Amino acid sequence: PQVSMIPVSALLKEVVLLTESEALMKGCQINLHPLHGDMIISGDVKQMKQVVLNMIRNAMEAITERDDDQIGKIEVGARREGAEVRIFISDNGKGMDILTLDRLFNPFFTTKENGTGLGLSVSDRIIKNHGGCISVSSRVNEGTRFVISLPLIQ
Ligand code: ADP
Ligand code: MG
Repeated sequence: PQVSMIPVSALLKEVVLLTESEALMKGCQINLHPLHGDMIISGDVKQMKQVVLNMIRNAMEAITERDDDQIGKIEVGARREGAEVRIFISDNGKGMDILTLDRLFNPFFTTKENGTGLGLSVSDRIIKNHGGCISVSSRVNEGTRFVISLPLIQ
């Protein structure tokens, strides 16, 4: 791993830019919330991008799998909480039942026909290696919110 200082705003901006056109083709909007002052984390920028990218992709897939035709919305942002930053990725996709919520971090657990089930297990390990954690809340047919907590520099 290549450790460097990572501005959270640049990290989120880059991943949102990367996924925006794909999202629009799938009929969902990604809203990147403006950050109040920049926050810096320390870590491997490639791994961090991979984590956020997988969460945004999961959000788009959850929106595609929702059976009513609501406009898909993905909210991405971050806020400071004491000595931590909380990065959130929330969607109004199909949501998850308790059985899925119980297993989503297990390697190879997937509910998708062509899923690998590795995205979240790898993400969980990456974030733990950076001294942080991932939490999730979800409701069937309403949506899902992932929060990544990481220690801030300074
Ligand atoms: P994959 O995307 O290959 O299935 P992941 O590890 O990224 O693997 O996700 C595991 C499972 O968690 C998914 O198959 C899905 O059931 C559930 N999941 C993850 N993110 C979301 C989300 N935003 N909304 C609904 N379900 C989700
Ligand atoms: Mg995935």
